[in-house]
Amino acid sequence: MAEGGEDVPFVRALLDTGIDGYKPKFTNLIVFIKNTDGTVIWKDKYQTSESHVHAEIQMLNDKVFKDEIEKVKDDKTKKTEKTKTTDKTEKVDIILTLNYSPCSECADKLIEFYEVKKSLIRKFTIRFSRLYRINIQANIDGLKDLNSAGITLKAMTEKSWCDVLMPEESSSFEKVMKLYDLDPVMIRKRDLDTRKTLQELLGKDQSDSSDESDSSHESGPSHESESSDSDAQLLVSDMEKLKFESDSD
Ligand SMILES: [Zn+2]
Repeated sequence: MAEGGEDVPFVRALLDTGIDGYKPKFTNLIVFIKNTDGTVIWKDKYQTSESHVHAEIQMLNDKVFKDEIEKVKDDKTKKTEKTKTTDKTEKVDIILTLNYSPCSECADKLIEFYEVKKSLIRKFTIRFSRLYRINIQANIDGLKDLNSAGITLKAMTEKSWCDVLMPEESSSFEKVMKLYDLDPVMIRKRDLDTRKTLQELLGKDQSDSSDESDSSHESGPSHESESSDSDAQLLVSDMEKLKFESDSD
């Protein structure tokens, strides 16, 4: 996997997409399946294949991925039989990290998957570095459909980069950037641009734009549940968040 500098090109492409005009022709995807306590129980990565099968489709077609979700069901059944109670923690969180947001076709497939497996999933989050071809209306509609289906769409944040690249340890954004020899200012700016554009596309009623409460790296006061009533306010809260995260390092 990607920690500790392993598979640097894969991680670099995730981090770099959208910076200095870099737009790779492939999508890189890292998937985490987490317990509701935040423990990573399974992870893997996928990339657009030579025959252009999108990373998301490869994940959805991967028997191992599907089995991991089904395991929760087995555990759930076992537990329910034993204790005769329904444990609400017997669900998983699925978190995808991508360099591009899903295209319209992948959006449809992801929704289809989510609708079928919903009872086993507490939260399904898709976060990404850059929005994919939003000059095409179908892709915008795909993002809106994902959002309407209850799947959380997010731009990357400092916390989410630490979470995906250093899941086992508490590491600062600056340290992660140093490890991959990247300029944190550029990454922050790209992520902020993506967040603002995503907000504009989905409408300002998004209250979960910066919700990182599921992150194991959560620290400090939570000011993130405030909903924004205007784009101006949103920008201010983004800047505050940015400042807060820089300060906390
Ligand atoms: Zn796709």
